[in-house]
Amino acid sequence: MQVSGKTVVVGIFGDPVAHSLSPRMQNAAIQASGLDAVYVPFHVTAAQLCDAVKSIRAMSIRGVNLTIPHKEASCDLVDELDASAQMIGAINTIVNDNGRLKGYNTDSLGLLKALKQELGCDVAGKRVLLLGAGGACRAALVALCQAKVAWVGIANRTRNRSQQLIEEFSAKFSGTAFAEYELGSSLLSSCYEPVDLLVNTTSVGLKGEDFGFLVVDCLKPGGAVFDMVYTPEPTMLLNQARKRGLATADGLGMLAAQGEAAFALWFGQSPEPLVMRRALNLSDEI
Ligand code: NAP
Repeated sequence: MQVSGKTVVVGIFGDPVAHSLSPRMQNAAIQASGLDAVYVPFHVTAAQLCDAVKSIRAMSIRGVNLTIPHKEASCDLVDELDASAQMIGAINTIVNDNGRLKGYNTDSLGLLKALKQELGCDVAGKRVLLLGAGGACRAALVALCQAKVAWVGIANRTRNRSQQLIEEFSAKFSGTAFAEYELGSSLLSSCYEPVDLLVNTTSVGLKGEDFGFLVVDCLKPGGAVFDMVYTPEPTMLLNQARKRGLATADGLGMLAAQGEAAFALWFGQSPEPLVMRRALNLSDEI
């Protein structure tokens, strides 16, 4: 990769950010498309987020991805939100058009695509349990409700966040039933009707840890577990699910799908097919 005086800069803001595989796959796609651009990781803490977003304008950065913990807070720092990002209340992509910053959320589409590609899962009519209540959970909620799931349960460590999500989204999606739980061992007795699909939207697993109880016991036999966390591979959650004979997928397929959509927003063209998946060592069979 040759960096010139005209090289376009895109990147990712996160804390932590060192684990992110986005630089690897985005730079592979940039190279394959022959663009004069580079994708850079920026370690940005919550306290620095406001200054970092302002720097996008000041330094003519074309755009950024946002990862933990910035997806919700960034909504208030951009000039405009696209309709889907507004409904989700969290963004993972900013596009800078001549100093005007617009926020998008490509996680929602990325999750549905990955569920289909990695698990052959059509969520319509299903019971889905979401772990977490942060930005990634908001994107998952909108994706699942728009795809007409029958029931969504949300279990979070900080209960007022999950309660707030239920309140907000049950008003928006009357066709879906909602339930709220504490993310702890009491979940197993309170969520007594088994679910078809479990989606981990928390960052638990990123450091090799588990939830401290067998959360996979919430699933029906033949159910599936999708872990948005993708490193270390496999996560403790996916290990437990595999031992139970459940279908599993980590977050790599979603990472590729949301990244392809962000690339198209910044560069006005789709990346070469499969380049991002190959950079993540994912199979070509989708
Ligand atoms: P976020 O807004 O900061 O939310 C983090 C969530 O994790 C909150 O619900 C938080 O619970 C929960 N959490 C954190 N530590 C916990 C712990 N020790 N025990 C229980 N719960 C804990 O982050 P986010 O943007 O939603 O991202 C969450 C995860 O999804 C990250 O690992 C991110 O990398 C991953 N992700 C992956 C993809 C992909 O493409 N594969 C896309 C989006 C996100 P509290 O509310 O109690 O703090």
